[in-house]
Amino acid sequence: MNLATKFIHAGSEPDPSTGAIMTPIYQTSTYVQEAPGKNKGYEYARSQNPTRKALEDAYAIIENAKFGLAFGSGVAATDSVMKLLNPGDEVIAANDMYGGSYRLFTKVWERYGIKFIYVDTTDATNVQAAVTANTKLIWLETPTNPLMNITDIAAIAVVSKGANSILCVDNTFASPYLQNPLDWGADIVMHSATKYLGGHSDVIQGALMMNDAELREKLYFIQKSCGAVPGPMDCFLVLRGIKTLHVRMKQHCENGEKIAHWLRNHSKVTKVYWPGFEDNAGYEIAKKQMNGFGGMISFVLKDESIDAANKVLTGTHLFALAESLGGVESLINHPASMTHASIPREERIKNGLADGLIRLSVGIEDVDDLIDDLNKAI
Ligand SMILES: *Cc1c(COP(=O)(O)O)cnc(C)c1O
Repeated sequence: MNLATKFIHAGSEPDPSTGAIMTPIYQTSTYVQEAPGKNKGYEYARSQNPTRKALEDAYAIIENAKFGLAFGSGVAATDSVMKLLNPGDEVIAANDMYGGSYRLFTKVWERYGIKFIYVDTTDATNVQAAVTANTKLIWLETPTNPLMNITDIAAIAVVSKGANSILCVDNTFASPYLQNPLDWGADIVMHSATKYLGGHSDVIQGALMMNDAELREKLYFIQKSCGAVPGPMDCFLVLRGIKTLHVRMKQHCENGEKIAHWLRNHSKVTKVYWPGFEDNAGYEIAKKQMNGFGGMISFVLKDESIDAANKVLTGTHLFALAESLGGVESLINHPASMTHASIPREERIKNGLADGLIRLSVGIEDVDDLIDDLNKAI
């Protein structure tokens, strides 16, 4: 089935009780049983909810997975993967990743005896060199946030299999429209559904997708035992978002490409980060594993001072100054003080994240209006 058809029909079955074409919001905490132990497959809404089930079926379909699980947020999904581990286990993670994942790893999970080794995953030999007998999880992001570094998922999957480890890819930036990590050998895909899947900046949610039934059982056990489940209204919103993912992503990509090239030619801009430039180190890999390059762009001004960056950050009208990404409306963000403030400055600078770096989530408005807005601010 082609992408457009898949995204519209994923998980959608007419409601069995009324025939409603859209999955109803089953706003209930429990289900009446006919007799003790005799029920219709639903007992208590932390464990099962029909709206959530429709969404979890959709999650599986859009990532070419057998199973999908929904969580109360992206970090709750990440946290649930960490709960597969035991004290003494080691995680190899990307040194350039979402600040909230870094905070969860260093501030929460290190306290429970999990060891994290941060490496530049764009070179698989770095990951291989960090493998020990205790390596149980490899955590990847590609493209990375905010520097758009590209990691070869298939190459890391080979390392992970050799190490008997689980490979989990945070696929939030690409969305399932642009990239399907399970097809390249990953074991788990994680999404912040808050971003492109929801697509309208009106919901917080996370997702995990996987093919292995045993892994699904373990993660389902964690989902119901730890309880980081989303409510049915939020599941409805993400189900609705997924139906237009393909048209939105097509436009994000088209607008992103135009703005990336326009910025690159701007006399006041020195560096633009976008995975679609042919002279990027990761371009060939991006072309291999992605169906397009998306609408996430970072750039640095010639004047690298924070003051100059602040003028742009507060000078746009269409691009709203806000954290988050992936909605229909364009956002502008300052990673060093906003999304990545939880990463110490030395770590940030070491990994190439300049103080003056500006990140754009290019929306699906008219691209000429967006360029005009940026042009006035720069
Ligand atoms: C936003 C984000 C997360 C965290 O998701 P929440 O839904 O905010 O909890 C994780 N990874 C990436 C790449 C993100 O952009």
